[in-house]
Amino acid sequence: MFKGFDIKYPEYEVHTPHTNLSYNVRSLNVQEEERLKGSLLSAIKVNEHLNKCIYEAITKKPEEIKDYDTFLKHTTLKDRDALLYGLYHITYEEIRNYDVTCPSCRKEYPVTVQASSTFSMTAFPTNDVLSKVVKVDLPISQGVSAYISQPTLFEEMTALKSLGVSTGTNMDILTETLILKKFQQNPEEGDTIIYSEREDIMDAYMSLPAKDKREIYKKYKEEFGQYGINLRMLSTCVHCGTQDTIDIDLVENFFRMVHSIWVDK
Ligand SMILES: [Zn+2]
Repeated sequence: MFKGFDIKYPEYEVHTPHTNLSYNVRSLNVQEEERLKGSLLSAIKVNEHLNKCIYEAITKKPEEIKDYDTFLKHTTLKDRDALLYGLYHITYEEIRNYDVTCPSCRKEYPVTVQASSTFSMTAFPTNDVLSKVVKVDLPISQGVSAYISQPTLFEEMTALKSLGVSTGTNMDILTETLILKKFQQNPEEGDTIIYSEREDIMDAYMSLPAKDKREIYKKYKEEFGQYGINLRMLSTCVHCGTQDTIDIDLVENFFRMVHSIWVDK
């Protein structure tokens, strides 16, 4: 009977850019990879498995993180990117065969790069990322304000669950609207109307003029979005030689890597 090897997995230290906490994560093992592969079925499962997988790979965590629940509530989506990067770095090191579409000739070509060579981080300048809420007065929808914040893993999971499993078409809208805490309308006469239920927020969002949506994202980028990790590389098109700066989507690539690691070996 197998009693387990007495080995220590390689570890990597991660500082989360938003909440400014320090973690150690260890490499995934084969069983954990397999579990992630089986989770590609639904968005909720992917989300749950990804968060659990990261949590279980943590070998050293800050004092305030008591359990899985406090972890979800104290980790923003951008912090998860950083933890995922650490996990990726220590498990795979290389970002392999990442498909790039050339902006000049539109042809695709694969690139392989050391994950660490693409990494940079901009830390959130203050320590109130979890409580900060910013009011955005919409330029076209007069009298309507959107309140934006940086969602945590807990908020993401709650939103996913509130919609149930069979609403695949709303997935993009759900993801886009996670940064919205509520809409508030102040009519010239009568009471203030507040929409804070997830479904109401999504419906309200879809009814906005396009310019208002742009204003929301402009503000989000200024206040929250510019902080976090970046995986950026300069690549040269193999077909026409055009150089381009590529932003790597780590979550997408993580699942691609989990899936393909045994195929091309
Ligand atoms: Zn090209």
